[in-house]
Amino acid sequence: MKTVSLTIDGRKIRAPEGENLLWVALDNGVYIPNLCALRDKPEPAASCRLCFVEVAGKKQPVTACTETVEQGMVVNTRGPGALRLARTATELLLSSLPVDCAHCPSHGFCELQKIAAHLGIKLKTKRFRKILRGLPVDYSSPLFIYDPNKCVLCGRCVWVCRERLGIGALGFARRGFERLVTTFGGEPIGESKCRDCADCVIACPTGALVFKDKQESKSL
Ligand code: SF4
Ligand code: SF4
Repeated sequence: MKTVSLTIDGRKIRAPEGENLLWVALDNGVYIPNLCALRDKPEPAASCRLCFVEVAGKKQPVTACTETVEQGMVVNTRGPGALRLARTATELLLSSLPVDCAHCPSHGFCELQKIAAHLGIKLKTKRFRKILRGLPVDYSSPLFIYDPNKCVLCGRCVWVCRERLGIGALGFARRGFERLVTTFGGEPIGESKCRDCADCVIACPTGALVFKDKQESKSL
């Protein structure tokens, strides 16, 4: 496969032509915030709106997950326009999440902590009015806990369960602020067609899906 040469944050990088910009950056040690991306997902969801970068020649910041690398491309992941968009999207997400890291099993593994640190924003940001969802936590699986209040609606668990595994125990329901990940008919996960593989737990970037046995940890 033909390789191309591009520049990311002033660093010369070589990558296969047509490769996804988000993965090229991450594979070369350049962090770009992201929540909804999965490597084996053929089409990027581009739903979390966090992976904004600036590309020379483009007027507006673009999402790295929808860009492919080209010869001579010049990318700035720290441009003010890109950072402003990523910060706003993150702070909006945080405005509907109960941020209590000290008591969360995902403390230290949570992608939100990493994103906030990278963007220089506080997890307990007050920029937007806090509106919590107050949803019941599902303890019914023998292996894991699902707390929809900590869900960022990235869709990773839904895609993994439905597309990668062909099971489809999880899906999205409702719209707008009410939107949530749930089972068919809202039944407890332990009574659904879930097969307890826990691949959704591994895929979840937050504390929404966590193992009951804290000995098992996530490795994002
Ligand atoms: S444990 Fe496996 S089968 Fe159950 S919801 Fe998660 S991915 Fe689907
Ligand atoms: S439960 Fe986790 S993986 Fe699933 S949509 Fe919510 S945050 Fe994403």
